[in-house]
Amino acid sequence: MHISKLLIPILKNNSSEATIKSHQLMLRVGMIKQSSAGIYSWLPLGLKIMKKIEQIVREEQNKIGAQEILMPTIQPSEIWKESGRYDDYGQEMLRIKDRQNRDMLYGPTNEELVTDIFRSLVKSYKSLPQLLYHIQWKFRDEMRPRFGIMRCREFYMKDAYSFDQNDEHALYSYNKFFLSYLKTFKRLELTAIPMAADTGPIGGNLSHEFIILAETGESKIFADKRIFELDYSDTSLEKKSLETLRKKYDQYYSVTDEKFNKKEFEKNVSEENRLITKGIEVGHIFYFGDKYSKPMNASVDLPGGMKQFVKMGSYGIGVSRLVAAIIEAKYDDKNEIMKWPLSVAPYDLALIPMYNKNDNSALEKANNIYLELKKNNIDVLIDDSDENFSSKIKKMNLIGCPFQIIIGKKSERDFFEFREINKNTENLSLNNIIEIITKQKKN
Ligand code: ATP
Ligand code: MG
Repeated sequence: MHISKLLIPILKNNSSEATIKSHQLMLRVGMIKQSSAGIYSWLPLGLKIMKKIEQIVREEQNKIGAQEILMPTIQPSEIWKESGRYDDYGQEMLRIKDRQNRDMLYGPTNEELVTDIFRSLVKSYKSLPQLLYHIQWKFRDEMRPRFGIMRCREFYMKDAYSFDQNDEHALYSYNKFFLSYLKTFKRLELTAIPMAADTGPIGGNLSHEFIILAETGESKIFADKRIFELDYSDTSLEKKSLETLRKKYDQYYSVTDEKFNKKEFEKNVSEENRLITKGIEVGHIFYFGDKYSKPMNASVDLPGGMKQFVKMGSYGIGVSRLVAAIIEAKYDDKNEIMKWPLSVAPYDLALIPMYNKNDNSALEKANNIYLELKKNNIDVLIDDSDENFSSKIKKMNLIGCPFQIIIGKKSERDFFEFREINKNTENLSLNNIIEIITKQKKN
């Protein structure tokens, strides 16, 4: 892509409305544009990143056997009256009347709708488990939308739902999502720690929030540091293996403030292992048994002909919030350098030719390199603007493509100044550069 053709409204300075670094950067490089309080349009750069995150989330859901569906954003109120949440949900729910004067709503979450789908389509225990997910916009009329898309009113979420015939099977489903979340966040180069959490309006008795550490996070966390060293690499999708993984994590104290108990914390965690800090919630999983299936009458036939209300869980990931969470984790705001993980970078490489109006041979050279890189499936952003070299570098450092090639008038025929952003420059041949990037993309 040539930067002159890209809709990328770069700001020279941080906007005063943004108080945290992700919000600042997203406005600065034109990833989003506010349309009204807590509601945003996604511009090309921001959308490209979010779509890549979405795809990683999708792949990891598919790997545990979850099936993708797509439910509407607008829901009828009847099913919410059946579950009893229509009145409970309060002002966060955006309620709408259609032209027939029917009560509708913009979905803040989908337990009711997916239970309605399940009860009308699935009759036998033989079809279980069913793991269903969708990736869809949600609306919650937050009292205080803030921090850009971190806490907004309309946001993009992956929400999954599991249906099983008993608690034991349901826990197995829960554990599959637990593992899949660890893997998803790792692919985004984030360390997200599962923390025992309150269930809030979703209900139920077992729940984990996945939190990444960040000073600007809104969740206060209390944890045993050793939980950060755990990994899942020896875990398979076998039931036993997943149970072992859960036990491994459960042995260390880690909770958010709603669950915090000072006595327990001090009893279970030695002083040198105590971590009290803040974090951003990027995912949340719940097990709530028959909380919805019972009032909504979602049951299956068991072998002897008996009927059983299905046992359900739900599993959310804030896909749009993750864009901001990655920035909070990776952006060096002092030096104004962002580095996107290659897996979600808007472009793999920034091509920065130095030239002036009288001699644009470097631009010509850059255009040839651009074509060659494209042929090799490397996605390139080329700066064909008239700006001076230092503002080009500044701009590309903010945009955060993980690699850069700089082309000066004097660059030798076949060697180019190449660097990983924020590292030292090397003179390498184009083939060598292609090899390095291709190899890293495969990892
Ligand atoms: P929070 O505690 O941050 O308000 P929640 O517990 O209400 O979130 P869930 O119902 O668990 O959220 O939703 C699943 C995920 O959706 C959250 O983990 C979060 O990443 C994301 N999310 C929730 N509310 C918002 C919001 N207002 N803006 C952006 N993302 C959100
Ligand atoms: Mg939550």
